[in-house]
Amino acid sequence: MESLKSEVIVVGGGIAGIVCALELLDTGTQVLLLDRDLEENFGGLARESFGGMFFVGTPEQRRVKVADSPELALADWREFAQFGEDDHWPRRWAEYYVNQCTERGYRWLKSLGIRFFPIPHWVERGLHTRGNSAPRFHLVWGTGRELARVLAGRLLAHPMRGRLELRFGCRVERLLAAGGAVTGCAGGTEVGGAPFEAQGGCVVIAAGGINGSIERVKANWHADWGTPPETILNGSHRYADGTLHDAARAAGAAVTHLDRMWNYAAGVHHWRPRKPHHGLSLVPPRSALWLDASGARIGPQPLVTGFDTRELVTRICERPPGYSWQLLNRRIALKELAVSGAEFNPSIRDKKWLAFARDLLLGNRWLYQELTRNCADFVLADSLEELVEKMNAPAGGHKVRLENVREAVRRYDETVREGPPWRDEQLERIALMRTYRGDRIRTARSQRILDPGAMPLIAIREFIIARKSLGGIRTDLQCRALDEGGAPVPGLYAVGEAAGFGGGGMHGLRALEGTFLGGCVLTGRAAAAAIGGASRPAHRTG
Ligand SMILES: Cc1cc2nc3c(=O)[nH]c(=O)nc-3n(C[C@H](O)[C@H](O)[C@H](O)COP(=O)(O)OP(=O)(O)OC[C@H]3O[C@@H](n4cnc5c(N)ncnc54)[C@H](O)[C@@H]3O)c2cc1C
Repeated sequence: MESLKSEVIVVGGGIAGIVCALELLDTGTQVLLLDRDLEENFGGLARESFGGMFFVGTPEQRRVKVADSPELALADWREFAQFGEDDHWPRRWAEYYVNQCTERGYRWLKSLGIRFFPIPHWVERGLHTRGNSAPRFHLVWGTGRELARVLAGRLLAHPMRGRLELRFGCRVERLLAAGGAVTGCAGGTEVGGAPFEAQGGCVVIAAGGINGSIERVKANWHADWGTPPETILNGSHRYADGTLHDAARAAGAAVTHLDRMWNYAAGVHHWRPRKPHHGLSLVPPRSALWLDASGARIGPQPLVTGFDTRELVTRICERPPGYSWQLLNRRIALKELAVSGAEFNPSIRDKKWLAFARDLLLGNRWLYQELTRNCADFVLADSLEELVEKMNAPAGGHKVRLENVREAVRRYDETVREGPPWRDEQLERIALMRTYRGDRIRTARSQRILDPGAMPLIAIREFIIARKSLGGIRTDLQCRALDEGGAPVPGLYAVGEAAGFGGGGMHGLRALEGTFLGGCVLTGRAAAAAIGGASRPAHRTG
C-alpha cells in the first residue's frame, strides 16, 4: 500500500480540479491532485468541449449592441431553471454565477491569456418558458482545448510548482475519515491495481458527473422522459461514473437531483470510438425536417434547435423507440451542419481565421465529407424513394414509411414556396433567428428540401446523447459538501460537475448553456478561496 500525504487532496484533473489547484498554489497551499486518466488527457472534458462560456455585460455583447445585466440574466435563469421550493443552494449558486461570472470568470480568464470570439452566440432562447433574452455564449478562441491548455500550463509553470504533486492512473474509490472529518481517500492504480492511500487536511471532489455511465443515466432517468430509450450514446467522460458521488454519500454528504441532466437530442455514433457507445452531438440543422422513426414530421409544433434543448429531448423520448431522423439536403448541410466540441471544429480549435471565414462563407466541406463518408447514421440519395430504402437498410430498425416522408416534404416545400408570412412555425423561427447577426450567417434562408440545385438528400438518424449531470453533491457557496440537514461535512468539498456546478444543481431543470465550464471555473476558485482562505496570496497567477 502506497501512502501519500498533502495539505489538500484534489480528486479529478478536469477544469474544475485544475482551477482549484491553481488557486490553492497561489496561496502557497500544498496540493496532491489524483486522476484516474492518463496524463495526456489532463484537463478532462474541457479538452473536448466547444468552449462556450456564459457571461453577462461583456465588451463582446456591447459590440453587437446587446444590453445585458445580472438582473436580466438572473430572471432568465430562474424561469428556465424552474427551481423547486427546497432548492436553496442551487438558487444561491445561480445568483452567485450571474453576479460573479464576468468578474471572476471572464476577466480572470482574460488576464490569463484566454481570448473570446468577437460575436457571442444566442442559444437557448426559451420556448414555453423564457430562456436567454440576450446572446451570452462566449466562445473561447481555440475551443475548450485552449482553455484547458492555458489553465493546465499555468498550473504546471506555477512558481509554487514544488508544492504540487500530480498522480495519474489513480482511481479513487472511497473517502477516509477520522474524528468525524474527511481526512483523505483511497483506491487503486489503473494499471496493476496497486492500492494507495492519501491523507490530507481536506479532500476536494472534482471527479465530474455521472453521465459517463449509461447505466447510471438510465437508472436516474427523469420521470418527464418516460422509459429510457434502448440506445443512449455517451457524450461525457468515460470515468464520470458516479464513484465519488457514492463515496461522498457514504461520508455523509447529500447528493441531489441526479435525474436532472443536460442531454442532447441529436447524437450520432462516433466512427472512431474512444469509449463504449461513444457519440457525437450534432448541432441539429435548423432548416432540416425533424421526423420520427416512422418518417412522419414531429408535430404539431415542429422541433427546432436553439430554444429549449430539454424540450427536444422530451419530445423525442415521447415517441418510441426514442430516436429520430433529420432530413435535409447538401446545401443545408454545408451551411448548418455542426458538431459540438473541439474535435470537429479544427479551424476554431487551431485558431485559423481564414479557414474559419472560408467555412462560414462557402460551407464546411471538410465536415460534410467527414460525416457523410464515415458516420453510419448518415444516408445520402438523389430521390426520396432511394433515401427511404437506405433509411430502412439497418436490420431491426423501426420502419420508415415513404408516404410519411413524402407528405412531410411536400407540405414543407410548398410552404417555403409560398413565402412569408410563414404558415409554418419552423420557418417563423428561422426568420426570427436570422434577425441576429451571429445566427444569420450560419442559417440557410427558407430552403426547400427537394431543390434540384441542393442535392443530394441526406437523412441523419439521431439518438439521445448523455452529456452533463445537472445534479450532484450539495454544496454551499464555499463549496463545502453539506449533509442532509444542511451542515458541512468537515473536510469535504466538491467542485465542477461533481457538485452539479454548485449547490448540487445550480441549473435546476434547464441550462442556459456555457454555464458548465463557467460553473467549473467559479466553483474551483470559490473552493480554493475557502480552503486557502486566511493565508495571503503568495504568488499571483494573473
Ligand atoms: C463535446 C463536449 C462539448 C462541450 N461543450 C461545452 C461548452 O461549449 N460549454 C460548456 O459550458 N460546457 C461544455 N461541455 C461540458 C464541460 O466540458 C464539462 O461539463 C466540464 O468540462 C466538466 O469539468 P469537470 O472538471 O467538472 O469534470 P471532468 O472534465 O469530467 O473531469 C473529471 C476528472 O476526474 C477524473 N476522475 C473521475 N473519476 C475518478 C476517480 N474515481 N478517481 C480519480 N479520478 C477520477 C476523470 O479522469 C477526469 O479527468 C462540453 C462537453 C463535451 C464533452
